Amino acid sequence: MKPKLLLHSCCAPCSIYVLKELAKNYQLSIFFYDPNIHPRLEYIKRRDEMKTYAKKIGLSFEEGEYDSKKWFVKTAGLENEPEKGKRCEVCFDIRLGETAKKASKEKYDLWTTVMSISPHKDVGQINCVANKLADKYKVKFLEANWKKNNGFKIGSQMGKEEGFYRQDYCGCVYSKLAREKIIQARKNED
Ligand code: SF4
Repeated sequence: MKPKLLLHSCCAPCSIYVLKELAKNYQLSIFFYDPNIHPRLEYIKRRDEMKTYAKKIGLSFEEGEYDSKKWFVKTAGLENEPEKGKRCEVCFDIRLGETAKKASKEKYDLWTTVMSISPHKDVGQINCVANKLADKYKVKFLEANWKKNNGFKIGSQMGKEEGFYRQDYCGCVYSKLAREKIIQARKNED
């Protein structure tokens, strides 16, 4: 019997490669807990795509609460932090905290997240937050750097073949604004 693993997912394009790799050794369940995603319509779009894909490949999918107000309260004062900064650390703590709590309560053997596949994420920062949560909730975190071995590239190709929507910002309103600024600056240069 394969060990039971609870996998935190933020969207289908970041998850597709990770799911394929983990399914070789674990009995997977997907947990979509991402109250950082803004606006709500974007959240629904990412959630529905993940849910549909999970159904297609026969995996269990559960959604956490979209408690975005709590997310805004916890990240208050960190609006101007860059990606990989303090706001992201708090954001990981919120999302992974809920995942670790669920994994512990429902007696999973271990848990992890797909997020280290993104080239915009600091794997050391994710692991540091996650390992503290693993200690707190007494359930093992599976450390992984999904970017390795061309993971991001392979996952992007797999997502393209599935026809996934790929967002151009991480998720929160601050990352969306930062992205819009870059696009505007490029337009001004033309
Ligand atoms: S940039 Fe991404 S990881 Fe960082 S706070 Fe925003 S949504 Fe969370």
